Amino acid sequence: MLERARFAPSPTGPLHIGGLRTALFNFLVAKKSGGSFILRIEDTDAKRTVKGAEKHIIDSLKWLGLDFDEGPVRQSSRGNLYKKSVSILIEKGLAYYAFDTPNDLEKAREQSGGNFKYNFTTRMEMSNSLTLTNDETESRIQRGGYSVRMVVPEKRTIKVVDQVRGGLSFNSEELEDKIIMKSDGMPTYHLANVVDDHDMKITSVIRGEEWLSSLPSHVLLYEHFGWTPPKFYHLPLILKSSGAGKLSKRDADEQGHPVFAVKWEESAGFKEAGFTSEGLVNYLALLGWNNSSDKEKYTLFELIDEFNDSGINKSGARFDYKKALWINHLHIKDFSAEKVLALSEKAATQLGEKYSSEITEEIIDLIKERLNTALDIDKELAVFTGQPKEYDSGVIEKINREIIFDVLNFCKLSEELISNPKALKEQLMSFGSEKGISFGNIMKSLRLSLVGNLSGPDLFKIIEIIGPEETLHRIESLTNKI
Ligand code: GLU
Repeated sequence: MLERARFAPSPTGPLHIGGLRTALFNFLVAKKSGGSFILRIEDTDAKRTVKGAEKHIIDSLKWLGLDFDEGPVRQSSRGNLYKKSVSILIEKGLAYYAFDTPNDLEKAREQSGGNFKYNFTTRMEMSNSLTLTNDETESRIQRGGYSVRMVVPEKRTIKVVDQVRGGLSFNSEELEDKIIMKSDGMPTYHLANVVDDHDMKITSVIRGEEWLSSLPSHVLLYEHFGWTPPKFYHLPLILKSSGAGKLSKRDADEQGHPVFAVKWEESAGFKEAGFTSEGLVNYLALLGWNNSSDKEKYTLFELIDEFNDSGINKSGARFDYKKALWINHLHIKDFSAEKVLALSEKAATQLGEKYSSEITEEIIDLIKERLNTALDIDKELAVFTGQPKEYDSGVIEKINREIIFDVLNFCKLSEELISNPKALKEQLMSFGSEKGISFGNIMKSLRLSLVGNLSGPDLFKIIEIIGPEETLHRIESLTNKI
């Protein structure tokens, strides 16, 4: 079956990781079937609409490569459809006008000791078109300021299958006669959502688990209209990295990791934190899905191919930034040199000025294994673009100054060997056994002079790339310092 799945965010703020994951799962379900991924902007609540939020949503999806086939469809421009739909339910007697003021409702709440539900037990005591005469109802409607509520039947078990959780049943007595049209004439989320999903021929509704409690009301609305409901998927919560509860922007700030795909105001997104879109998409997929294998690295294409409903987890998915970095690393290390360089303009320029394109490629291949994010590129390239800015004093003390001095002096003396790494290595070994200096300390001393610390790729490769002159220059600099 060709699926039609929609991502339906409310533009009430930037798109965070939960929404991104929902968008991805919608995309995967749609694309796996060869169907359509649709973007719908649920902007019926003008007061809550935030300027720039829709753009942030679209920019985020674009960066991740989750291209929508239709949309954005904006609910704010579909008012007539909702009005028509509400009148259908009123005509059928499955919705009614409610005139209760906020005060009336407050009073009812107080009288019931805080347990008030606007439903079959109370609706006949309230001020609505079921309790007022036709004339009164008419004149109240003329005055405006009314809302419309759906009728929830008494004592009904509402059964529905969720693709993630299996069969679910809800007791209608737990529900309220939800408002489906507000006093400003705008539909509520529940009505607009159901009407649109039907009108847009949505086959799968995929959203966060926070909407599970609305599901029975939605199922009833489908029933009231006489429509067949789509399939439902309620995705597990994304939990904060430690402790209980849902991951929030505040937790992310505290833990020092992003929650947005791309920057929002002053907050950097994963993109600005050096993630690749491939890495983020992959990590998002693993937040609540696995195909019961050890496979960790997926391209978007592989995800489309291998995604399956049965791999979606019911329980919350804990956010793990280390894992996100690891997954991003798996992608960067398989990138071509060109693609890696595209992640850092600075690196591309610096290498371009100093090295041929073959050497540049060789350098990138050497550092790729060491990159978690694009921000690591400049750090890892430093050894190839200039001499160390500082030396790790801990290492100097640990090896001992005299030993370092001896090793570096020896290297300086065997100047012609510097251009022959293999011979240099052999000479250093025999120098070591003669002087009683371990080969480890010899290598550390040399590395310290070239890199400034003990990190970095293969030392002889570094020597080969930076060349004999630069190598001697760096050896000289550290000897002078010591
Ligand atoms: N507008 C809702 C949201 O922001 C959509 C929920 C749904 O997909 O039904 O999450």
